[in-house]
Amino acid sequence: MKRAMIQRFIAVLSLALVVFGMISYVVSGNRLLDNTIVNMRQVIGSIDYALDYNEDVNSQVKEIQKALKNNLRITVLKNDGSVVADTDAADIEMLSNHSDRDEVKQALKNGFGYATRYSDTLSEKMLYVAEQTQNGAYIVRVSIEYQGLTDYLRILLPPLLIAIIFVFAAAMLVAGRFSYTVTKPLGEIAEEMLHIRSEEPEFDFKTYQYEELNIISYTTDQLINEIKENMDRLDFEKKVRQEFFSNASHELKTPITSIKGYTELLQNNLANSEETKKDCIQRIIRETDHMTNLINDILMISKLETKELSVDISEVRIAPLLAEVLESLQPIAIQNEVTLHQDCQPIVMQDSVDQLRELLSNLIMNAIKYNRPGGDVWVTIIKQSSEMTITVKDNGIGISEEDKARVFERFYCVDKGRSKKSGGTGLGLSIVKHIVSYHSGTLELESELGRGSTFTIRIPMQNENVV
Ligand code: ADP
Repeated sequence: MKRAMIQRFIAVLSLALVVFGMISYVVSGNRLLDNTIVNMRQVIGSIDYALDYNEDVNSQVKEIQKALKNNLRITVLKNDGSVVADTDAADIEMLSNHSDRDEVKQALKNGFGYATRYSDTLSEKMLYVAEQTQNGAYIVRVSIEYQGLTDYLRILLPPLLIAIIFVFAAAMLVAGRFSYTVTKPLGEIAEEMLHIRSEEPEFDFKTYQYEELNIISYTTDQLINEIKENMDRLDFEKKVRQEFFSNASHELKTPITSIKGYTELLQNNLANSEETKKDCIQRIIRETDHMTNLINDILMISKLETKELSVDISEVRIAPLLAEVLESLQPIAIQNEVTLHQDCQPIVMQDSVDQLRELLSNLIMNAIKYNRPGGDVWVTIIKQSSEMTITVKDNGIGISEEDKARVFERFYCVDKGRSKKSGGTGLGLSIVKHIVSYHSGTLELESELGRGSTFTIRIPMQNENVV
């Protein structure tokens, strides 16, 4: 990366130098030509002033050239282009008519003209400047060797080369330093990221000069935190699952031990009276029922948790469903001397009939079980704005303030004996909570010891209606 950065830096710099050089060459060349022409016109003015055209012009210009002490070539022409005097020609009679020369043509037309060309007479590239004299009868032309900027290049080249070498060295240094300020933080960030391998990864990203680098550290930090949170969540879920399995096996072990005990009594003929035998068999049946309830609830909860439950969605008519649940629980209500009341709007919705049945029967069953003889259970189902509200209220034993938060935990029973006697598993409310959260609904519990409990569940409804 460092190498690539330096290479690109130098490539851009070279391009800039070439473009700058070309533009300077053209602009300075033009400027130099303009200045030279101005100077030469001043010289022409002086020559014109000094010349006496009635005398021998040729010898006069030679004198002037000597006086000027430079290699200026002076030519004096008549307006018809014939040469009157020339400092560099041995015999002016031999010189051809100059009226076809560019600078002469321009001078005849505009009073002044110039041209650059190769002179056959002097074998040099020359600049010619011609101007009409004050009296208008002649044209004075001066010419010098003219190479443009090429003449200066020999002088300019050494300092230019030194400057270029200096600029390139400086560019490499700056590019090197710049790439270091980027590559170093990247290396540090990568090194810091390797801490993820440790057991308890801790990250300490520095703040850098460039915002983009800080974004990398910030995003990495966030990602790592998310990974950590996910890992913690997975650990927690693993722990909860392990706890669940250990609780479940513990809960199953108790009825199995009882069944084994009663079976052994029967096998070893230790239950001698008919009555004891009958009692043993009845206990075995009760424990088997309890195991069946437990297994069903465990299966239900594990399916709900792993979201494996293939949810069959169909049109559910809530009022007939509630009637069915109440009818199935009626014998237990009679047994417990509890009266069931219902008030249900004729709601129809798209939902899982199995989940709604499970939810209603768990709540109503609890309201019957944890009641007292002569008690009541009120079930109300209404549609309020776009949600269905299910209320199961009883005037039974109630739940204490400290137990309220715990009753939704798995296998939690306030009174284990009472729960088990009525076929409870400690999983009913946990299943209710899962079903409600599957529906993105809310669950509320109001209760007072000795006065009764009210469970309120709100389930959002879409496109469903009250018929
Ligand atoms: P269980 O199978 O024991 O009924 P649940 O999860 O359904 O398990 O209920 C957990 C505990 O919450 C019960 O053991 C009981 O103590 C208490 N509980 C549940 N519903 C009621 C209620 N309506 N009135 C009083 N206590 C209740």
